[in-house]
Amino acid sequence: MSVYREDQGRALLRAIVDGSDDAIVTKTLEGIVTSWNPAAERIFGYTADEMVGQPITRIFPPSRIVEEAEFLHRLAKGQHISHYETVRVRKNGRSLDVSVTLSPLRDANGRIVGVSKIARDITERKRFEAAERAQAEWRRVMLASIGDALIATDARGQITYMNPVAESLTGWRLEDAAGRPLAEVFRIVNEQTRQTVESPVDRVLREGAIVGLANHTALFARDGQERLIDDSAAPILTEDGQTIGVVLVFRDVSVRRRVEAESAAVRNELAHRLAGLTQLAAVSTRLVPTGDLHGPLLEILDAAIRITQADMGNIQLRGARTGLLEIGVQRGFTTEFLEFFASVGAHEGSACGAALGAGQRVVVADVAQEPLFAGTEAREVLLRAGVRAVQSTPLRSLSGEMVGMLSTHYRQPRQPDERDLNLLDVLARLAADYIERVRTEREAAVTRAALEAADRTKDDFLAMLGHELRNPLGAIVGALGVLNTVGNETEPAEQARAVIDRQARQLSHLVDDLLDVSRVTAGKVVLARRSLDLAKVVAGAVQTLHASGRLDRRQVAVDASPTWVDGDEGRMEQVLLNLLGNAIKYTPADGRIAVRVFSDGSTAVLEVADDGIGIPPDLLPKIFDVFVQGDRPLDRAQGGLGLGLTLVRALATMHGGAVDARSEGAGKGSIFTVRLPCVTPVPRNEPVDSKPSGTVRHRILLIEDNEDARAMLKLLLMRRGHEVHDTGDALTGVAMAGALEFDVALIDLGLPGLDGYEAARRIRAGRNGQSLRLIALTGYGQVEDRRRALEAGFDAHHTKPISLDDLLEQLG
Ligand code: ADP
Repeated sequence: MSVYREDQGRALLRAIVDGSDDAIVTKTLEGIVTSWNPAAERIFGYTADEMVGQPITRIFPPSRIVEEAEFLHRLAKGQHISHYETVRVRKNGRSLDVSVTLSPLRDANGRIVGVSKIARDITERKRFEAAERAQAEWRRVMLASIGDALIATDARGQITYMNPVAESLTGWRLEDAAGRPLAEVFRIVNEQTRQTVESPVDRVLREGAIVGLANHTALFARDGQERLIDDSAAPILTEDGQTIGVVLVFRDVSVRRRVEAESAAVRNELAHRLAGLTQLAAVSTRLVPTGDLHGPLLEILDAAIRITQADMGNIQLRGARTGLLEIGVQRGFTTEFLEFFASVGAHEGSACGAALGAGQRVVVADVAQEPLFAGTEAREVLLRAGVRAVQSTPLRSLSGEMVGMLSTHYRQPRQPDERDLNLLDVLARLAADYIERVRTEREAAVTRAALEAADRTKDDFLAMLGHELRNPLGAIVGALGVLNTVGNETEPAEQARAVIDRQARQLSHLVDDLLDVSRVTAGKVVLARRSLDLAKVVAGAVQTLHASGRLDRRQVAVDASPTWVDGDEGRMEQVLLNLLGNAIKYTPADGRIAVRVFSDGSTAVLEVADDGIGIPPDLLPKIFDVFVQGDRPLDRAQGGLGLGLTLVRALATMHGGAVDARSEGAGKGSIFTVRLPCVTPVPRNEPVDSKPSGTVRHRILLIEDNEDARAMLKLLLMRRGHEVHDTGDALTGVAMAGALEFDVALIDLGLPGLDGYEAARRIRAGRNGQSLRLIALTGYGQVEDRRRALEAGFDAHHTKPISLDDLLEQLG
């Protein structure tokens, strides 16, 4: 039984050994193989025949040979060696990873006689493990090197892993965080509401799906630092779909958000600037001068409004004469605003007024807070018009002159930024240049027109002058013809003489006017001023007109109160005679003329009104210009060269006054008003007229170089019973005056050699000089000449042609 059993047992053991997948080998304590099962043959490549009786070290790589002695030593002491992993070599030379278990073999007495060795080929497992390790390492490296932060939790939401980015963003180390609930490490709030945001892990665990974080999530790091993050979380699922954890991936987006916001702002700004510049370019290319100011200025204004995102705006033009700003073009204002700010001066309670005064841009960032407007009506008007902020940029021409103002207005308080202001400057420059260009062109056109008009006026004048001169000359020539054909003392001869006298007088009057106007307007005239009563001048002038019969049937109403001015009497008379002369010329024979003199405060007013032909409105503004005349009645009975009013104005101006003309129009009469500064009355004792009455025979010395004139005058005087001694030479005349007894000397001023003035001085200084009456005869009717004559010692002054009557009257 026992044998049987023993045989049976061996057979069984063999079967097991042979059927094993593991190599089962026995060897002696010396390391000689004693058995080698089929698995050993398979694993190591050696057959049992090849190995039995051979040292086991045959399958050891050289580096492991030392193991054998160690094993045998330990086995000899009865120790087991289990699952020792080592390396062996197959017959074909390839290495094998094996796990060996070694046990001592004992004989029946328990003595150790050999070793059993079970070796398992673990090459596959090793490779797998290596692959696993590599994989794990790869995962570790990958998770660590991933740019995003990553946290993994288990199914309960407790942290199992964090990569370095997650560590740095949360401020937690994995060692400290592992095992903690996610919420403790991953603290998040809504950036805007500051409310705690539900943990994404909780949501994943609840919903079992990938979730993204809400926008605007802010993460607090362990040290309290706050960062904006962006993220998603996903469940970690087993193959059978069980959630065993959650992986959370997030990243710091603070920088990105900032960059995004900044780049959006930059983009916006660029777009804005580009739009502005495009519009600017468009405006500037369109600004081709057309003479039209309105359209282009409106374009510039629109560009300014768009570029600075204003709600309203206007461009004001500055009146060259008034200096006031007046709205040229505007957008978006109420009528009340436009009326209130229609015309603005410097320093008035407005941004544009302040800018005008300061000569530079004024920005009012908030009308409601602006001290400039405190308590002003302007503030209320602005607020009612919806204006809360305004800027005014002066428009300066290239010469630096302020020609206007570009203002933009805003419904909200606002401080325009640097860029807006720069663009406004460019637009202001464009507008100023444009205004200047158009103005220059307009001025040039006006100048051209004025030159053309002056040219026409001059042509008219020359034609008129020719006419005016030819008329009297024609009459004179005709009258001379009569004289030549009739006897001297006949009636026709008398008439002819009268004609010659009148016409020659008219001619000299014309020439006087011409000379006078050029001298007065050239400023060559010196006024002999003294206090005088205008009322008296008027009375005198009216009387003269009456006496000369020029008034005809016209009535002159004089209403004059004593009114004192500092004036040149002769010149004042000239003013008056010109105005009255015109009133007569341009009023029908039965017309009415009214003269008033009064003082209006510190102003003396002299008014000459008539109910004559009146002055058409187009003529009125230029009536005082030289050579300007209205349509003349065809008969031209009343001559004139269009100089009278020019003289009147020049004289009034020289006296520190002014003259103006009014007329309701043709046929409605005219009113001329002269205004002069009043002075305190200084009444003068008028010299008493001591002229003896009755006819006196005089001894007369006549000095005149023109022989005809001398002979004529001598004849006439002698015919009146005077004794006349004559000479054509001044020196002879002076000698005669000293030698003979004369009571009158008539001296021509324009003598060759010694002139009349000098002759008079010498005569005065000589014997009998003081008692002699010296009378100047001159071709120059100028007041200036008269003054010089009086200074030289003359008692009187007569303009040629000499009126014998006047002269005789003078002689008494
Ligand atoms: P003149 O009388 O020689 O033409 P003035 O300079 O005195 O030159 O006047 C210029 C013009 O003004 C006149 O031609 C006339 O048309 C107009 N004028 C002047 N005074 C009067 C007046 N009282 N009534 C109507 N027209 C007048």
